[in-house]
Amino acid sequence: MALKRIMNRFLRLLYPPRCVICHGLLPTDAEADGLCDCCAGHLPSVAPGKYRVLDETVSLCFSPFYYQDDMKQSIRRYKFCGRAHYHRIYGILLRAYLRDLDLAPPDAVTWAPLSKKRLRRRGYDQARLLAEEAASLYRLTAVPMLRKVRNTRPQSSLSAKARQKNAEGVYAPAVGSDITGKRVLLVDDIITTGSTLDACAQVLLHAGASEVVCLTLARSRLEQRGRDR
Ligand SMILES: [Zn+2]
Repeated sequence: MALKRIMNRFLRLLYPPRCVICHGLLPTDAEADGLCDCCAGHLPSVAPGKYRVLDETVSLCFSPFYYQDDMKQSIRRYKFCGRAHYHRIYGILLRAYLRDLDLAPPDAVTWAPLSKKRLRRRGYDQARLLAEEAASLYRLTAVPMLRKVRNTRPQSSLSAKARQKNAEGVYAPAVGSDITGKRVLLVDDIITTGSTLDACAQVLLHAGASEVVCLTLARSRLEQRGRDR
C-alpha cells in the first residue's frame, strides 16, 4: 500500500492533475483530472430547450455544449491525444444535462461506432465511452446496435455536402442486435452537419427502432433555419 501511495505521489508530480476543459493545473490537493472552478462556471452551454433536427430522419439531437474554444480543444484531446479518461468528467456533465432535460427514459442506449481500423489505432471508442456514461443514468448498459461496414475519410476533413455522401451506406445493424420496437438513445461526441447521426438513425429506424433520439456532448454553431429549434 505504501508503495502504491508513493507511486501515486510520483505520478502526480509527473502528471499533475489538470482541468479537462482549459488544461490548467488544478489545486495541489486534487487527486485526478477534473474541472477547475473557472471552467465549471463558464462552460459554453447550449440554451435549455434548444436542439437540432436531423435532415433525413427528423430525429432530434440534444447537446449540452457548443463545440468551441476550450471545449473544442478538450474534446480534441479526448479523441486524438489519448485522454480517454475525460469520459468520466464528461459523463457527470452529460447526466446532469439529461436530468434537466427530463427525456422519457430510452429502452436502449447505443453509439455511432468507429471503424475497426480506427478503433484499433485509437484503442478506445470515444462515443462508446460517452454512451456508457449516459446509459448509467437509466441503469442501462450501452449496447452495440451499429457497425461500420465501410471505411470513410474523417468527416472533419469534408464539406457539408461531401459529409452526407461520405456517410451513406457506411453503417449497418450490428449482428444479433435487438432493435425492433426500441426507443433508442444514440450517442456521439459531436454533431456538426448531422450526416453521421442521420445515417446511423436511418439504419436503426429501418431495422425497426420505434424512435431515435440523439445525444452528443457538443454541437457546432451551425445555426440554420429549419434545423435549429
Ligand atoms: Zn478549467
